[in-house]
Parts: sequence; C-alpha cells; structure tokens
Amino acid sequence: MPLEQNSTDYSVLNYLQLPVIVFSANAHSEVFKNESFQLVEQYYLHASNNPTNKHLAQIINSKLSENDTDKFEVEINNGSYRHFFRFTAYVVGEHVIVEGEDITELKRNQFLFNRTNTLLEDYSKQMFELAHTDQLTNVPNRRALFTKFSQLQSKHKEFSCTVSLIDLDYFKRFNDSFGHDFGDQVLVTFAKHVKDSIDDTCYFARLGGEEFCLIQINSKDTVCFANTEKLLQTTKTIKLMTPDNSNIVMSFSAGVAVYGKDGISLDELLNNADKALYFAKENGRSRVVKFEGA
Ligand code: GH3
Ligand code: MG
Ligand code: MG
Repeated sequence: MPLEQNSTDYSVLNYLQLPVIVFSANAHSEVFKNESFQLVEQYYLHASNNPTNKHLAQIINSKLSENDTDKFEVEINNGSYRHFFRFTAYVVGEHVIVEGEDITELKRNQFLFNRTNTLLEDYSKQMFELAHTDQLTNVPNRRALFTKFSQLQSKHKEFSCTVSLIDLDYFKRFNDSFGHDFGDQVLVTFAKHVKDSIDDTCYFARLGGEEFCLIQINSKDTVCFANTEKLLQTTKTIKLMTPDNSNIVMSFSAGVAVYGKDGISLDELLNNADKALYFAKENGRSRVVKFEGA
C-alpha cells in the first residue's frame, strides 16, 4: 500500500498543527495524512453540510483534478462546530502536498466587517434622507433643493428651468382659527396635492413655514407658468375639513423666475421669484406672477 510505504517520509508533518495530506502526483492516490488532517476529516465526515458523507480526502482530490486549481475552501458545519479551511496544493517532485489553514476567524472577521460596513452605509443613507427631508410633509427640504439644483445644473449641458416660489395665502388664519395641528394638516394636504400633480420633470420642496418651491426642468416658460396656474386652480378645489366639521379652502400666491433670464444661481432665482411673489400678494393674492425684471 503506498500510504504505508511512504508514511514514514512525511511523519514529521504530524508535528504540524495544520492539516496536511499528500497525494501521488500521477495516480492521485493518498500517500500520507497527518494527525491534524485525520481530525479535521472526522469532523468533515459528520458535518451536516456533507450529506453524502464523502471523505475530505476525496473532496480535495476531486477538486484538484476537476477544477484545475491549487487553492480552494472547505466548510465544515455540524451545527455546533463550524470551521472554514483553505487548502493549498504544492507539487513537490512526484507528490502533491495539500496543506490546510483554518480561516474561520478570518471569515468571521470578514463577515463582521461586511455587516458593519452595510450597517454604516444604511445609517449614512438614513442620515442623508433625514437631513434632506421635511419631517412634517415628507417632501424634500431647502437643503435638498439646493443640492438638487446644483446637481441638475452640472449634469445637464442644456439645463433650463423655471422656479415657482409658492406661499399659502392667509395661512396664519388656519392656525389662529383652528389650532396649530390643523395648520400642520393643511401643509401636509397641500404638499401631497402637489406631489400627486407633478411628474418627474419637476422638483418640489418645502422651503420652510408655508413657503414651497416648484422647479420645472427643461420645459417652455409659458408651459411652466400655465402649470403653476393650473396647480393654483386645483389647490383651490381641495376641501379642508375643520375641527368643527365645516369645509374651508386654501389658495396660494406664486412668483415665477426663469433660469438664464432672471438668474443662474438658485439664490438669485429665488430672490427674483420672491419679488414677483410680493407683487402677487400686494395685488390680491391667489395668483401667479412672472418676475418682470427691475
Ligand atoms: P400671507 O398671505 O401674506 O402669506 O399671510 P400668511 O398668514 O400666510 O403669512 P404669515 O407670514 O403672516 O404667517 C405664516 C404663519 O405660518 C406664521 C407661522 O406661525 C405659521 N407656521 C410656520 N410654520 C408652520 C408649521 O410648520 N406649522 C404650522 N401649523 N404653522 C406654521
Ligand atoms: Mg403665507
Ligand atoms: Mg410666508
């Protein structure tokens, strides 16, 4: 038997704490297994992830010949014992020496590292969302609007847009007459209405209080203006149920500034839209006014 004939040559390998098996290079028959290998083999034989009860030596042998590889991993899992070994084959003369390394700890650390990384990524996404979302209405906030604007500007060569600055009319009266919670509900209802009315060529954000901004991207100014006017008309049809069960309505005033003509930076566009908004408020509210320049 070749195993017995050659075992003395390799008996020194019994001092190694690593599992080692030696095959003949030609016939791929076993020549020697050290004690550590025999121990690992016992675990492998009874592992639940080895339902066919194949011997470890067989597995290694077939992997070496089939996969044309000199490195592979074996998992041993019997519920209470779960270890990973990486086997590496070296051809030495007429023999192939296959040495195993216990990489369980390495695997565990890799797993923990990946999980921590995923948790950190999720956490930072959540933080980003929180920092860019208005908590009451769930629409993007002022910070998000500015971030989005500069992204759009740098992404699209032919970028153009209109900026509608929208301010609810006499909003303070809702608070004063029906309480702050009712005022909050009006803001939520309005934001939802706009979200439901726009498509993905628009970006809608709450700037603060009862002030919102609608950016319409790459559409004709006249179309954008008409869209904002239409939004005003549909907003006025919403029936708000007060705490004393009566119906009331809301309206808004808006100022519109056009990218290029009325400014290039969002600050400038908002500033000019605000001037038009002021004009709308001064002239009876519930209307949309274009910025007409100084
Ligand atoms: P105008 O037509 O001139 O815009 O009048 P207005 O009453 O809408 O404007 P004004 O600036 O006088 O009042 C805005 C009010 O909005 C004052 C503030 O207390 C209220 N407000 C701001 N943020 C919130 C909020 O998050 N929730 C509620 N309920 N009220 C808010
Ligand atoms: Mg207002
Ligand atoms: Mg206001």
